[in-house]
Amino acid sequence: MIEVKGLSKKYGNFLAVKDVNFSIKKGEVIGFLGPNGAGKSTIMNILTGYLSLSEGEVSVDGFNIMENPEEAKKRIGYLPEIPPLYTDMKVREYLDFIYDLKKVKFPKKAHINEIMKLIKIDHVQNRLIKQLSKGYRQRVGLAQALVGNPDVLILDEPTVGLDPQQIIEIRNLISRLGKNHTIILSSHILSEIQAVCKRVIIINKGQIIADDTAENLSDRISTDRSLVARIECSEAEMLEALTTVKDVKSVMSMGCNEKGTVDFLIEPEEGCDVRRAVFERVVSRGKNILALTSNKLTLEQVFLRLVEAGSYEDARKLMGYNDEEEGEE
Ligand code: ADP
Ligand code: MG
Repeated sequence: MIEVKGLSKKYGNFLAVKDVNFSIKKGEVIGFLGPNGAGKSTIMNILTGYLSLSEGEVSVDGFNIMENPEEAKKRIGYLPEIPPLYTDMKVREYLDFIYDLKKVKFPKKAHINEIMKLIKIDHVQNRLIKQLSKGYRQRVGLAQALVGNPDVLILDEPTVGLDPQQIIEIRNLISRLGKNHTIILSSHILSEIQAVCKRVIIINKGQIIADDTAENLSDRISTDRSLVARIECSEAEMLEALTTVKDVKSVMSMGCNEKGTVDFLIEPEEGCDVRRAVFERVVSRGKNILALTSNKLTLEQVFLRLVEAGSYEDARKLMGYNDEEEGEE
């Protein structure tokens, strides 16, 4: 449904997106996950034809976005990071306006009614958009994307700024839309992506560092050798203390998840059991271990590690990909 090959985008001299490749099948619900500034919005703006690309090729349902923008754009509904709402318009008036703008062919009244019903905004159709809550405005944004019944929905951080209840409502809506649409959803929050997407594309510094199911990602990166230790301590001191334990390959702080404690991800050298040595080191510093588990990484931890790896090469190595070999063919 969507093919992206060798996509790069420069803003002036700044390379915001570097040689990105992926393809999305009809009906998939995909999450773009990455920290702020990773390049998610840039890629989405290119897919929707709002922004020109510097290099590469993008096609939607076989239509090249540069050569056939009209056909490609017709197949996409877009909810940008900041929805283009005319807040002095009433909901219905605004959707009618979008209908005209998109030159939609379906019977107007029935089509708009159907969308409002689906998105559950029919009861506010005569209200001014500026008088709606943020959650409702976001729904109007979604409704706007659905005008013309496009196959593909591209939703850029659709839950940003909403309260928890509104987040759940928008999330449920997206899950429902996923049954009949191909969806790309972006977020810098993993749980957002995990809640609705099967496949995750992790983007960092303009590059794709991972593209897989959530499950495979955590399988791929975690080795059952890794330990997670919850320790009552100060972060910097313990980080230093653990790093020098025999046969410990790397230590990373995963931050505070319980008051007064820090979680550390400890990776031993291949084939080494460092549990006793870690325990002794912590005790020798007069600190307490509250938990020591050799569990699989959660996707959150995978994401953090990949992003912290910094460079594309380091992240790929962490994932166990051998790019050099793959490149030779
Ligand atoms: P994300 O959506 O993942 O937060 P963006 O695609 O918005 O990331 O931005 C990617 C990078 O490109 C950032 O470093 C951002 O500062 C830069 N950028 C985005 N838009 C512009 C622009 N119009 N001009 C210059 N730099 C930009
Ligand atoms: Mg963005």
